[in-house]
Amino acid sequence: MSEIRLEHVIKDFDLRNGLKHTTIHAVKDASFSLESGKTIALVGESGSGKSTIARMITCLETPTSGSILFDGKPVPRRGKALHQYRHNVQMVFQDPFASLNPYHNIYHHLVRPMKINHLADSEDEYQDKVMKLLERVELTPAKDFMWRRPHELSGGQRQRVAIARALAPQPRILIADEPVSMLDVSLRLGVLNLLARIQQEEQLAMLYITHDLATARHFSDEIMVMYHGDIVEHGPSDEVILHPQNQYTKKLLGAAPDPDSFFRNKKNNSK
Ligand code: ADP
Repeated sequence: MSEIRLEHVIKDFDLRNGLKHTTIHAVKDASFSLESGKTIALVGESGSGKSTIARMITCLETPTSGSILFDGKPVPRRGKALHQYRHNVQMVFQDPFASLNPYHNIYHHLVRPMKINHLADSEDEYQDKVMKLLERVELTPAKDFMWRRPHELSGGQRQRVAIARALAPQPRILIADEPVSMLDVSLRLGVLNLLARIQQEEQLAMLYITHDLATARHFSDEIMVMYHGDIVEHGPSDEVILHPQNQYTKKLLGAAPDPDSFFRNKKNNSK
């Protein structure tokens, strides 16, 4: 079992422009925990602080105050312990075109995190592991994909490679930051189903950042709604969707009158 816990986390950004000094309160007071085998959807409009939460969990930003605990201990900020922590917490980004270096083939992208973690003893064993990883993200036959470069793949296929790369160091926590928002609508459900299957198989703790309440409800155990840096609502997914308490959640739901229509219209599960 692994757990990430945020306790009263605050993140301010100080901006200076000549003599003008402003502070952006990106995250105001966030407390929640994310456990193995569970998915929490973090929902809210652009600029509400969702990515800042993800970036603090992955140590790309340091909280202004409050604590982030991994398995009960403060998240390390430097040295070998930080290196180890980073293997345990991986991220899938929004843009599959920007997140894979076009100069390297898929094998390179996937084997690198494995080699950094010394996950095999020979080149043959590494190749075998990369093949298995490609099969897990349904890029088959794996041999056909291994030596290709990112530009030879579709957006959906690239995002599957990005998911495989996040899984390569065998993480315990996965943060998916708008993982399908740049994909063609017809590909989204396939990629989300894949993430959900892997999350269950590996019993990962997953934070799913999205604008989309329909997929938040379908793919998450809990929904957390952010508004202007505050977590304004947090509860079991059905509860939040069916009985929203906060005005902003009600407004979001009002803007998406039929959250289930996505699934009725999208039987297509193709790559
Ligand atoms: P979201 O992911 O919900 O779109 P963000 O977490 O990216 O929101 O941003 C929250 C707020 O913090 C926004 O007002 C954004 O402009 C600001 N912000 C985020 N990162 C930085 C930064 N590095 N420097 C200054 N302001 C930032």
